[in-house]
Amino acid sequence: MNTDVIVIGAGLTGLTTAYLLARKGRKVAVLERMAVAGGQIQTHTESGFVFEGGPNTGTVSCPEVAELMADLELTSGGRCRMELAPDSAKRRLIWKGDRFHALPSGPMSAVTTPLFTFADKMRILGEPWRTKGNNPDESVGALARRRLGRSFVDYAVDPFLSGVYAGNPDTLVTRYALPKLYNLEQEHGSFIRGAIAKARQPKSDRDRLATKKVFSAVGGLSQITRAMATYLGEERLKLGLSEVRVSPVEGGWRATYINKVGEEERVEGRQVVTTCGAYDLPELLPFISCQTMGRLSNLSYAPVVEISVGARNTFGGDYRAFGGLIPSCEKKDVLGILFPSACFKGRAPEDGALFSYFIGGVKHAEMLQKSDGELEALVEEYFHSMLKFPATATPDLIRIFRHRRAIPQYEITTGERLDAIAQIESLYKGLTIGGNLRDGIGMAHRIKQATDIANKL
Ligand SMILES: Cc1cc2nc3c(=O)[nH]c(=O)nc-3n(C[C@H](O)[C@H](O)[C@H](O)COP(=O)(O)OP(=O)(O)OC[C@H]3O[C@@H](n4cnc5c(N)ncnc54)[C@H](O)[C@@H]3O)c2cc1C
Repeated sequence: MNTDVIVIGAGLTGLTTAYLLARKGRKVAVLERMAVAGGQIQTHTESGFVFEGGPNTGTVSCPEVAELMADLELTSGGRCRMELAPDSAKRRLIWKGDRFHALPSGPMSAVTTPLFTFADKMRILGEPWRTKGNNPDESVGALARRRLGRSFVDYAVDPFLSGVYAGNPDTLVTRYALPKLYNLEQEHGSFIRGAIAKARQPKSDRDRLATKKVFSAVGGLSQITRAMATYLGEERLKLGLSEVRVSPVEGGWRATYINKVGEEERVEGRQVVTTCGAYDLPELLPFISCQTMGRLSNLSYAPVVEISVGARNTFGGDYRAFGGLIPSCEKKDVLGILFPSACFKGRAPEDGALFSYFIGGVKHAEMLQKSDGELEALVEEYFHSMLKFPATATPDLIRIFRHRRAIPQYEITTGERLDAIAQIESLYKGLTIGGNLRDGIGMAHRIKQATDIANKL
């Protein structure tokens, strides 16, 4: 064995796992197919704009995020620093009719908002007394309609799930897609009663590290993955590999691959952790039977087109908000538009703004086939009709990123997938199947999973 742990994939999950193991003094080898580390996280800098081709922001929703960022600041000599969005960027907008409206942030705005019907506003007062659901596979849409009412599903749940999952509320299963929400109802009988009980629970200093704050790194998210890649160094992090295969051997695991100059190489370790997509596993782990593997690799992913749009002049427009989401019932060709320059410094030239359009998702997979010209026309249309730029203004920057498999959908097949993973891991000791095919799709989930894996190993 020439290493302790082999990690497949140098996205956020793989890098965090390897970085934390290396910090504990374990020997690691990270194998990555792409020529650059970071996986879905890729920050770009061009003409005074700093924009993301993948995720834009994460949430400090668990202590592991704050702890990792503090440690990275230390090991990178201050080059990687967490940046939190200001309070002004807490405002979330929802499109209805011909404009964005602020999502209610308190009882007063909840009463006056035009987003929800009067009947549903009254109905929500009765939420604590509504009967608890008993279908463990209930979809988020069905659960929210039952407890909150149709207009809440249309103008809060649907756009929220578009923003997070690019998904469909009626196919995402609550206990897998939003386990905290599911548990509120199951454990407390109501979202409202559950939220109050949670807020009253005593918190340790470590618990308090988890907040609702939105984060990136100064200079963009790639600073995080770059800091971990730099710490690991070329000796431990191998990029640009092809034909990566993993197989069990006496006392551990062997990974074989073709390196970036075309030579065959191998590495052997006591443990192996995979962090790639479900669709990559059949080729990577050929020793697993097709039948078992089929229960993992059938996971479906939402396709997403992300377009970074820069304006050097905002013409007096007010873009101090996290961004705006567009409910499906409004029948637009865009899922949402984020305002990264309102969240973080230096994302656009002074007096300018940066926007991030999200298009496609499960409900509009066909948008991925649109040509650059068609997408640019769409960007311009919404630049005026939604962002309200003057008719004579045009974007100064448009960069398109197509993600064929952006976000895994935690649908009805999830239980079977988790069972199959447990079965494989118990049959093949020393193999851990990580990545976003389980344990959550956001960056905070990825950091938490990687920390748990590193601790376990
Ligand atoms: C468009 C978009 C927007 C998003 N927005 C947000 C957001 O706002 N907030 C948020 O929290 N999350 C967001 N996410 C999700 C977030 O990007 C992911 O949770 C996270 O980056 C996934 O990291 P990962 O390491 O698990 O996977 P990946 O980043 O996919 O990394 C897996 C790595 O494995 C490599 N690999 C695959 N197969 C092999 C193989 N056989 N051999 C070697 N290497 C292999 C891949 O090349 C890749 O580098 C978004 C995702 C996308 C696509």
